[in-house]
Amino acid sequence: MKTYTVAAIPGDGIGTEVISAGIEVLQALAKRDGRFAFKVDHFDWGGEYYKKHGRMMPVNGRDLIKKHDAILFGSAGHPDISDHITLWGLRLAICQPFDQYANVRPTRVLPGITSPLRSVTDKELDWVIVRENSEGEYAGVGGRVHQGSPLEAATDVAMFTRPGVERIMRFAFRLAQSRPRKLLTVVTKSNAQRHAMVMWDEIAVEIAREFPDVTWDKMLVDAMTMRMVIKPQSIDTVVATNLHADILSDLAAALAGSLGIAPTANLNPERAFPSMFEPIHGSAFDIMGKGIANPVGTFWSAVMMLDHLGEAAAGARLMRAIERVTADKRCHTPDLGGTARTADVTAAVVAAIEGAND
Ligand code: NAD
Ligand code: MN
Repeated sequence: MKTYTVAAIPGDGIGTEVISAGIEVLQALAKRDGRFAFKVDHFDWGGEYYKKHGRMMPVNGRDLIKKHDAILFGSAGHPDISDHITLWGLRLAICQPFDQYANVRPTRVLPGITSPLRSVTDKELDWVIVRENSEGEYAGVGGRVHQGSPLEAATDVAMFTRPGVERIMRFAFRLAQSRPRKLLTVVTKSNAQRHAMVMWDEIAVEIAREFPDVTWDKMLVDAMTMRMVIKPQSIDTVVATNLHADILSDLAAALAGSLGIAPTANLNPERAFPSMFEPIHGSAFDIMGKGIANPVGTFWSAVMMLDHLGEAAAGARLMRAIERVTADKRCHTPDLGGTARTADVTAAVVAAIEGAND
C-alpha cells in the first residue's frame, strides 16, 4: 500500500479548525479507498510558536518538511502579531524557497450554493485563476529608511524576471489547453506600469505561439474586475501577477458564494520541492474558536492535493462528496447563510465518502 506523507501546518485562527477537519476527511477517504494511506505529521508553527520562540517556524523548519509528499496549510495570521511578520515568517517562507511558483485557484458555483450575482450558475462561473507566486509585487525587494523622521521613505519594488514570467505563462497556457474551452485571459496593467507589465505582455505573445489551439485575450486588471461581475461566462482560465491574482481570487471566491469555499494549490511543477495546499482564506479573527468556519475550502484543497499526488480517482470521489454535501442547505455554515457548524459539515462529508458506492 502506498503511504503519502503530509506535513500539516494549521497555523492560527480558523486555520487550526479547518485543517483538523481536512485531515479527518482525508483519513476517511484513505480508509474508503484502501489502496493508499496518509501519514500526517503536525507542525505547530505560527503565531503561538512566535510568542514562545520569536519566530514563526524553526530555523531548520523547511528541512523538516522538504521530504514530505505534500503540505497542507491552514492560515498565517494572529491577532497580536503584525500581518507582514506572520505572512513572511511562515507562508511566504515556505512557498518562495520551495519555488511553488504556480498558485492555482479554481472557482465554481457548487451545487446548492447561490452566487450573489443574480442567476449565475456553475455553467457560467467555472474559472481557474493562475497566480504568479514567486516574484512580482511580493518579491520582497525594497527598503525603509529614516523611520521616525519626517524624511521617512519606503519602497516595495515589483520585480519580474523573464524566466519567472515565461514559466507562469507556459503553465497557464498549458492549463487552459487542458480545459474544455481552451480559453485564457492574461491580466495586465501595462497602460500604467510601463516596464515590467509591458515585458509581461510581450512574453504572453511569445508563449501564445506555442499554443495555437488556445484562444487568449489580454485585459487590464481594473477592467477585469468589472468583467468578472458583468460577464462571468466569458472567462475560463486567467493568469495574473502575484498581487493582481491575490485580489481577483478573493473577488472570484465571493462571487462563487463565499471565501470559505475557495481552495488553492501552491505548485512546484518540477516537483523538486513539495507543493502546498491551502484554503484561500485567512485566520478569520471574527469567527475563530466558534466552530463555525466553513471547511469546504480546505476539503477542495485536499482534492487538489490528491490530483497532484496522482490519486485523481480519490480526488474525484472527494469532490463528489463535497458537492453532495453543499447541495444540502442544512449543511451550510453561516457564511453561506446556514446554521451548520464545522463539525456538521465534516461529518456529512465523511458520511458521503463512506456511503459512496462509486
Ligand atoms: P480572512 O480570510 O481571515 O477573513 C475575511 C472574512 O471572511 C472574515 O469575515 C471571515 O470571517 C470570513 N471567512 C474567511 N474564511 C472563512 C471560512 N472558512 N468560513 C467562514 N467565513 C470565513 O481575511 P482577513 O480578515 O483579511 O485576515 C485575517 C488574518 O488572516 C490576517 O492576519 C491576514 O494576514 C491573514 N491571512 C492569511 C492568509 C494565508 O495565510 N494564506 C490569507 C489571508 C489572510
Ligand atoms: Mn489573499
